[in-house]
This record gives sequence, structure tokens and C-alpha cells, in this order.
Amino acid sequence: MTVAEQRQGLSTAVDGYRLWQNIEALAKHGASPGGAVNRPALSKAEARARAEIVAWGREIGLSAYTDAAANLFLRLEGQRPELPPVLIGSHIDSQPTGGCFDGTFGVIAALEVLRVFIERGERPERPVELVAWTNEEGSRFAPGMSGSTGFTNPQSLPDILAIRDRAGISMAEAIAEIHAGDESIPEHPLGRPVHCYIEPHIEQNDVLERANIPIGIVTGIQGTRRYRIRVDGKAGHAGTVAMADRRDALIAATGLIGELHREAVSLEDMKFTVGQFDVTPNAPSVIPESVYFSLDIRCPDNAAVDRLDAKIRAAASGDRDRCQVSLHQITHAPSLSFPAPMQQLLEKATERAGLASMRLFSAAGHDARQLHYVCPTGMIFVPCCGGISHHPAEWVEPQHILAGTKVLAEAVALAARAEPADLLDDKARAAEG
Ligand SMILES: [Zn+2]
Repeated sequence: MTVAEQRQGLSTAVDGYRLWQNIEALAKHGASPGGAVNRPALSKAEARARAEIVAWGREIGLSAYTDAAANLFLRLEGQRPELPPVLIGSHIDSQPTGGCFDGTFGVIAALEVLRVFIERGERPERPVELVAWTNEEGSRFAPGMSGSTGFTNPQSLPDILAIRDRAGISMAEAIAEIHAGDESIPEHPLGRPVHCYIEPHIEQNDVLERANIPIGIVTGIQGTRRYRIRVDGKAGHAGTVAMADRRDALIAATGLIGELHREAVSLEDMKFTVGQFDVTPNAPSVIPESVYFSLDIRCPDNAAVDRLDAKIRAAASGDRDRCQVSLHQITHAPSLSFPAPMQQLLEKATERAGLASMRLFSAAGHDARQLHYVCPTGMIFVPCCGGISHHPAEWVEPQHILAGTKVLAEAVALAARAEPADLLDDKARAAEG
């Protein structure tokens, strides 16, 4: 492309100062000591952040709406309003000690792109919609990605609405409260057709930083299996019950974790995490009666995940150290690859923005995983310092926020005039007939 074309591109109008101001403004909702952000899904802090985004959108003439999963949308009308929209965005909920970029960057970048279209007086061929998905993180309501799951698979909605947080509040109740908070936002149906989905996100790893490259074109997302394992024994007096007579749930659980961990480290690239562990009654002089823990395994290689899954199922069932073990799988998401044409489109957008890019694989899960199954999907990564995320020290340089948004702007301009079939792999295209 010529320099003149580069100068005319939508990306030249992206305003880095405005982006940064928006990031800072949203970080105030749920701000906690040490620079952390604590903005659980559907909380009061998140409701305030949503209201601010809606106000920003309405200020520039965008229409806001929501759906039964409380996803939030801002729509820029296209020249052909009857066509499915280009969907761009991410999430605004956070981990309990999260940073102010994870998720938020993608939503703010999407808003900036819509602003640029409006300021330049350009109407895209297809409508373009910003989305902020509900409960991506899954820290308040587990599992996460409920908004994107409900949107792409409306049949899953009853299960999603039944999920309860630790205080016993259901997602149905929390969503009703959010909707009641602003009744001026109309509800649209779940499962609407989407032209394509592009999610900008921080990398949450340090590959881009080490390579000194501002843009990552994501090739795919690593698969996950997540389980809830329960071990039931028998409580008793720590001083009087003989060792041989005990049914100590904690001893059984830690033995099981040690055994499975040894299996996991023998598999290349396998990640194994027990992030949650509850002991009952959790008293110093009482033999543990029951233990409940989470187990999360991830690997780019689906076959390796399946092999470990078989070992886990065999080990975490029936009797162990005279205790009863039971397993419940809560998530199974295989590793996936985004369509090559979407990766090429994002590369072209990066070129148009005059930036360098490299391809990389996402080790973390994202809402893009859910969208991948219903429309051509791609992701743009920007570097985050030291690869740190889900932590108050999470940091993204302003020039990288700007770079990622410029690429999104060019990508939306390209996607809004692309034919749907041109965004899918040949195989997927053939399957769609
Ligand atoms: Zn995220």
C-alpha cells in the first residue's frame, strides 16, 4: 500500500490521549488499594462502569442495548442495517485483585473505533457493535465466559442463570438487578447472527515484550478442562482417634493431588493448577471430614489433555485412603485455531496502521473462544509489562494501547466490507455449503 493510503486510514484518527483517559476513568470503578481493580461481574462497581460506557456511547449517538445474559452492546448503524454486525470488544469484569487493562482495553478500544467512524463521518457498510461480555473472569460466578456462552448458545441460559456466587446470589438475581438499574436499555435476543468478532486483549504473557513487537495476531486458544473434586471422610478428635482408624479427607486429597501432579509434569507443555481448596470443618483439633478442591489442566495439545483427563477420572473416583472421592467436570474446552483469513485480515490491518506484528498462540481463555463456534473470529494482542496480569502490577504502555486500537480500526474497516465466506477457512466454508 502507498504512504498516501496509510495516511488516509481510519487508524490515523485514533486518539491515544482519549483512550488513556477512558482507561483511567473505568479503573475508578472498583479501585482498591495498591492500584488493584476489584470489579466482580454484575457488582455495583461493574454497574457503574457499564453506566459510564453507556453514557459515553449515547453522547456520540450510539444506541445501547442488552440481552438476557446482561451483555452490553453499543451499536453504530451501517449503510445496510439488515446485515449482521461486525462485533468488537471484550469484558469489563475483573479478578478480585485484577488490573485495569485485562478486558477493559478491548472494550475501550472498541468504543474509540466507533468514535473515529462517527468523527470522520464514515458509515461502515455493515453495522459495527461494541460488546462488553458478562462475567468473563468467573471469579464471582464460576465458570466464567457466561455472557459469551449465553449469547452463542442460548440453550445454555437456564444453567447460567442458576449459577450462584459464594453469598448464594444467583446470576438470575444479579442480572435482574443490573437490568432494573437502567430500564432505558432495551433487550435484544440472544443468538443473533454476527458477521465476525474481533477481540483486542492484553497478551498476559511476555512473548511480545521480549520480541519488542507491538501487535500479536492470535492463531488460536489453548484448551482447558476444569473439575471440582470432593473427598469425604469422617471427622473425629485429633487426640483420641487412632491413626489406623482414621478416614482423613485431607490426607486422601493431598495424596491424590500429588499423584496427579506427577502425571501432569511428565506431559510436555501441560499446566496443572489446584487454585481453590476448602477443608471442613477446618479446625485445628478435628480430623478433616471433607475436602473440596478445584483442578484446572491446560495444554495446546488436545491429545495430551485427554490422556491426563483419563488418569484424573480413574484416580478421582471411588475409595482412596478409606475416603470417598467424587469428581465433577465443570468445563471442557478443546484447543482451537482461528480461521486463517481472519489472521490475514488482522495482519493486513496491522500493515495499514504501519505497525509490526507476529503470530502467537493464546495460553489464556477468552470470550473469543465462544464466538469462534458461531462466526469468523480473531484476536489482537498487545504487550503487557513482564507478562503480568490478574494482579495490581498489570501494566500496558500507552503506545501499545494506541497501537492495538489502530489495528482494530483498520480491521473493522476491512471486515465491514468483506464477504462472510472470505473470512472463513476453506474447510469451514465447504461445510457451510
Ligand atoms: Zn480478559
